[in-house]
Amino acid sequence: MSTLFISDLHLSAERPGITHLFLEFLRNQAAEADALYILGDLFEVWIGDDASVPEHRTVIEGLRHLADSGTPVYVMHGNRDFLMAKGFEEASGCRIIPDPIIIDLHGVPTLLMHGDTLCTDDIEYQRFRAQVRDPARQQQFLSLPPEQRAAIAMDYRTQSREKSSQKPQEIMDVNPQAVENTMREHRVNRLIHGHTHRPATHEVTIDGKTARRIVLGDWYHQGSVLICNETGCHLTAY
Ligand code: MN
Repeated sequence: MSTLFISDLHLSAERPGITHLFLEFLRNQAAEADALYILGDLFEVWIGDDASVPEHRTVIEGLRHLADSGTPVYVMHGNRDFLMAKGFEEASGCRIIPDPIIIDLHGVPTLLMHGDTLCTDDIEYQRFRAQVRDPARQQQFLSLPPEQRAAIAMDYRTQSREKSSQKPQEIMDVNPQAVENTMREHRVNRLIHGHTHRPATHEVTIDGKTARRIVLGDWYHQGSVLICNETGCHLTAY
């Protein structure tokens, strides 16, 4: 049996083909797994559990079906869907897990993260992140009517796209020192994260020991799926 990891699906009405692919993945590959972990950015945007978005409904039903049929589904917040809360858990049957979290993955302690907190060279983004993760600010946002929230989210997205296109590629990747510090702090030699959309397995040496950083890919043109079992982990395309 295997444990599956995915991230950065960025599901939205703009790319119905990917939503379709994901629903098919839930019915097939995921249904045969021990567990499914979604490490952030399942949705392109999430403006609150109370805001009903038609294109999210089929996804939530698909997740619910998988969870009800006995495959646990764990969801981590990404930088786009961090407002998912209790209402999402109840509707989807998924369990929201903190970022970071250490799990016992077939006997190997493994650190799971979305990955955005490792991109410490992007100072502007980290400042923005601190603002939008502030609970008081989130409460204020969630108290606005859904239409107004949607408009603000759209605004953020446009700004973020403009800023990202101006930033050098290195700034948008993880900082090697941040990776090393985080893995040392959590005493793990395996880390799985997404966010950067650069699927790969990196070997890093930490205090003389070989450690592995596995980066999940996005779901723009195909599905990036990491399959882990007793023998190890390998990245595949769905
Ligand atoms: Mn992300």
